[in-house]
Amino acid sequence: MKTGLMKLAWIRDAGYPAGVTAPGGFNCPCGKHIPCKYGQAEHVRCSCGMVYDGQGWIVKVEEQPVAGIWTITKDLVTGPGQKGNAVGVCGPSECTLSSAQIRAHKKSRFFQLFDADENLYYEGYCVLPDGLTEDAFHPLDNFGMPNAGATSIKYRNVAGLMETL
Ligand SMILES: [Zn+2]
Repeated sequence: MKTGLMKLAWIRDAGYPAGVTAPGGFNCPCGKHIPCKYGQAEHVRCSCGMVYDGQGWIVKVEEQPVAGIWTITKDLVTGPGQKGNAVGVCGPSECTLSSAQIRAHKKSRFFQLFDADENLYYEGYCVLPDGLTEDAFHPLDNFGMPNAGATSIKYRNVAGLMETL
C-alpha cells in the first residue's frame, strides 16, 4: 500500500569510498535522518510519526502521543549558567516537541516540583490533553525524583492555585 503522496530520496551516508557498499537512509522532512537499507522489506518509522517503506514512500502517518510530555522552565537547584542547569530539558526521551512548543501547547499545564520539606526545586509545563491523569506524574517520576530527589508535584488549577497531585 502506497499513499503516493511523496517519496523520499535514499541518501548514501557520507564518508564511504565509491564502489563500496555503504549504509544510508532517508532524510525525513522533520529534519531527522532515518537509517534504512535501500529497498528493504521492513518499514521504517521516524520519531515524528512518519512511516516509510524501504524505497521511501510514505506508508502512513502516525499521530504522535503528546500526553505527559514535559519541559523544565525554571531550575532552583542549579542556577542559570551553571553546569547541569535543567532549563529547556524535555522528556520523555522520545519527545518530539521543543521546550517552547510544550510551553505554548494549548493543553500544557504549569507544574512545580518540591522536596519533602516543601522546597521548590523546579518549574515547568506538562502537556495533559485529558487533564490530570497518571501522565501528570511524568515530570516527577522521569526527572525531578531521579535528578534531585523531588518528592511531590503541584499543578496550577483553573483558579490559578497550585494543587498537589
Ligand atoms: Zn521525521
